[in-house]
Amino acid sequence: EEDAQYLVSLIRSVPNFPKEGILFRDFMPVFADARALQILMRALEAALPVPADDIDAVAGLEARGFLFGPALAAHLGKGFVAVRKAGKLPPETVSESYSLEYGEATIEVESDAIKPGERVLIVDDLIATGGSAKAARQLVTACGGTVAGFSFVMELEGLDGIAELGDYPTSSLLRMP
Ligand code: IMP
Repeated sequence: EEDAQYLVSLIRSVPNFPKEGILFRDFMPVFADARALQILMRALEAALPVPADDIDAVAGLEARGFLFGPALAAHLGKGFVAVRKAGKLPPETVSESYSLEYGEATIEVESDAIKPGERVLIVDDLIATGGSAKAARQLVTACGGTVAGFSFVMELEGLDGIAELGDYPTSSLLRMP
């Protein structure tokens, strides 16, 4: 509880970034702080939505899923799969497009990054509408992998993004209004 409060105390809420009307939750201070980073790793492990033995790989979403996904994967003794924005990975890739509030986004993985039947934990810093996580789910499935579950550091209350994901084991460490 004290640990959770410490993490929350480091998350900055920045009004009107990156656009007017958006309240941006800034996580970077958590990564810059030695104690907070250790708390974060331990908390993510303790809150895993499925036992670590039921996970073969951790897939993290660009960009902030890249900050702690590989650390969590190494901590658990798993591999890490980078889910990138379109156009950054060399072929062959598998891609998935999804709609944003304004426009469309495409995410990709290298097509051999996920082996058929591999059980993949999808991680990201924050779930808002769930659109990005849902697209990552499609991507893992399209590669022949199985989604073991989802881990988020933070969940924005009221958007119900987790409900969008369907019936998968999911955990989030912090709920923010
Ligand atoms: P969703 O697709 O609507 O669930 O949005 C989640 C994605 O947008 C994640 O990849 C987040 O990193 C990013 N995101 C949305 N809002 C915020 C925020 O307030 N702070 C940091 N990242 C955010």
